[in-house]
Parts: sequence; structure tokens; C-alpha cells
Amino acid sequence: MPDNPRIPILSEAPVDEERIYVTGTGGAPRLVGITREHSETDAQGERRYIKTVLHITASDGQLINPKHPNAYDCGICGRQFLSEQTTRYCHGCQTIICLQSCAHPIILEDNSQGYLCPACHRHMRRTNFIHFLFSIA
Ligand SMILES: [Zn+2]
Ligand SMILES: [Zn+2]
Repeated sequence: MPDNPRIPILSEAPVDEERIYVTGTGGAPRLVGITREHSETDAQGERRYIKTVLHITASDGQLINPKHPNAYDCGICGRQFLSEQTTRYCHGCQTIICLQSCAHPIILEDNSQGYLCPACHRHMRRTNFIHFLFSIA
């Protein structure tokens, strides 16, 4: 038996719980974070409030920031609940596309990186090919 047994800290039921949802492209609300506040009374009888933030992981493994909650569905392959780290807007049609399989990287006119969905990418390649044919004619 320990010489100085510690008095267990009393934890009380959460006093406040906040659940943060985002509305996905499909319209169904999704939980992206939970903050919980509860009070504890320590061995000296002091009460303190503790705030816990539970982060939810997106399907791509990235943590969703509950202060800036965003989760996206790929408009092409239908992958759901992706974070903004692994999604981009198609530079051509503004569809949300996943970096994992649908986004085709391109270099934009100002030399910055852009992305195209498969349909816009096919269209661009066809158009470039026609420009090429005209340029050698
Ligand atoms: Zn996709
Ligand atoms: Zn597109």
C-alpha cells in the first residue's frame, strides 16, 4: 500500500458539449469536431474547468480543424469526406476533385500550379492538339 494514497480526482459530467457539423455536398450533415467542457475537483478541493477538443479524421486521414471545418466529396469518383489538403477545384469547371485519382496537374499561364478534372483535361489535350496541328500547317 502506498504511503501517501492520492485522493482520486472527481470528474463530473460535461457541463457543456458542442458538436460541430458541416453540410456535405450530398446535403447530409457530418460531424467534424466535438468540444467538451467539464469540471474536476482535485485533491485540495479546487475545482477547475477542462476543455477537450475531439478532432475527427477525414477519410483521407487528415484531421479536420473544427475551427475551420471543411470536408469535401470528389465530384468525379465520389470519394467522400475528404479534407481540403487532398482536394482541389477544377480550373476549368470548378468541380471539386480529389488529388488521389481525379486531379490532373497543369501549369497555368502565370506559372502557378492548377488542376483539371478528367473531362476538362481531355478537352484541354484535344484543344492543344488542334493548336499544334494549326501551328505546323
Ligand atoms: Zn476523385
Ligand atoms: Zn473540370
